[in-house]
Amino acid sequence: MSLKIYIDGKLYDKENAKISVFDHGLLYGDGVFEGIRAYNGTVFRLDEHIRRLYDSAKACLIEIPIPPEEFKKAIYSTMKANKQKDAYIRAVVTRGAGDLGLDPRKCPKPCIIIITATIQLYPPEMYENGLDLITASTQRIPSVCLSPRIKSCNYLNNILAKLEGIRAGCVEAVMLNDKGEVAECTGDNLFIVRDGVLKTPPPEAGILEGVTRNAVIELARKAKIPFKECVLTKYDLYTADECFLTGTAAEVIAVVSIDSRKIGNGKPGKVTQALLKKFRALTK
Ligand code: PMP
Repeated sequence: MSLKIYIDGKLYDKENAKISVFDHGLLYGDGVFEGIRAYNGTVFRLDEHIRRLYDSAKACLIEIPIPPEEFKKAIYSTMKANKQKDAYIRAVVTRGAGDLGLDPRKCPKPCIIIITATIQLYPPEMYENGLDLITASTQRIPSVCLSPRIKSCNYLNNILAKLEGIRAGCVEAVMLNDKGEVAECTGDNLFIVRDGVLKTPPPEAGILEGVTRNAVIELARKAKIPFKECVLTKYDLYTADECFLTGTAAEVIAVVSIDSRKIGNGKPGKVTQALLKKFRALTK
């Protein structure tokens, strides 16, 4: 059976799921999206993802043509059409088809795409052994230019940093902001543990406020793990006892070296492992 893809209220076989070459999502990266997970028939934190999607769209003056409740139903019905209980879901809303100019007024109707597929970002051994990272020279786009809180279809900045990571033999890369502070990775948020205190950069550091990040913060608070949102520098990373990343696809994954500096004892740390276990329990 061919994977069914939702486009503007209809389901199409993957081979026939097509949008206009005049869509400004393609021509200009003018659109917003979400990466969402379903576990055992339940979409994880769907309300939070839908809220972020509608907020991203609002910030770009894209009016999503259906209400949030209908969007949620469309996600579930696409999964049902594909007989899926576990899925990696991509919800995209582009500005829609216009002409070759920038003018969004030429795009009368935003285009909604829902893809319910699968993704395995990292192989199981990376969860056991942890990741090696580098810090990229490509900085996060400053918030005054484009808020990283908008999850837009413009990922070139992150892709350039990811390429730096890949060329250095790493699967992810740390991105700094224009002040040289730690922001996040190319598709994941970053946490460290130092002297028992869990730390992560605040939204003002120029990060996407991850749904997984927020779930992990809640788990840490419940477990009475001391937690602080604060500015982090490369020095803080190098001298951390533990480091891990969070994201919808990655969930929680340990980092064991950054720029060739071993983190802690070079193995996934205790707090990291405890939080990974707690996070996985949330998705059961
Ligand atoms: N930062 C960036 C730049 C991202 O693209 C993502 C999502 N892939 C994240 C952080 C993690 O966010 P979430 O936990 O909501 O997936």
